[in-house]
Amino acid sequence: MDPGRLDRILDRLRENGGRITTARRALVTALVEAQGHVTADDLAELVQRSHPDVHRSTIYRTLDALEDLDVVDHVHLGHGRAVYHLLDDPHQHLVCEVCGAVIEVPDHLFAPLAARLAEGYGFTLRPNHFAVLGRCASCAGAGPVPAGRRSSRRSEGDDGERAVEEEKARDAVEQRLGGRPPGRR
Ligand SMILES: [Zn+2]
Ligand SMILES: [Zn+2]
Ligand SMILES: [Zn+2]
Repeated sequence: MDPGRLDRILDRLRENGGRITTARRALVTALVEAQGHVTADDLAELVQRSHPDVHRSTIYRTLDALEDLDVVDHVHLGHGRAVYHLLDDPHQHLVCEVCGAVIEVPDHLFAPLAARLAEGYGFTLRPNHFAVLGRCASCAGAGPVPAGRRSSRRSEGDDGERAVEEEKARDAVEQRLGGRPPGRR
């Protein structure tokens, strides 16, 4: 882990008017160490590993506070739960509907589209809240998107459905890696 990054984020927290509490420091540390996108539940587990005395409810409240302080943000990458990431390295998300890969791209790529939407429709684009879906380079030539990944029938936040989605994502990755031939189970 880059210790300088943690310090820079905590400086930003202070500059934005926040106090550094044990829970806040532990959460930011967990996010820096995880180097990516983590659900609130997984973050709670990570924090409690090093701080068993910090309550889950405190962790969830702290996440909200860190969002208000512009240190952390959440994004919806697909059907599953929202994931949290740090805002010191601004980016947008492309998600592959076939293998589930998350590709981070620079903010400015969306600027021309944002300008046209503002001009033509008076619409203010906010691409950071949801990922843009499509196909990654390695899946571009693959067959149709597996059923169930296409529509958004599924409601968010249900554990059973989330498990099904995760299993499908794993299957897709296995198929891509040649672990199992596509279309056979
Ligand atoms: Zn949201
Ligand atoms: Zn992100
Ligand atoms: Zn892919």
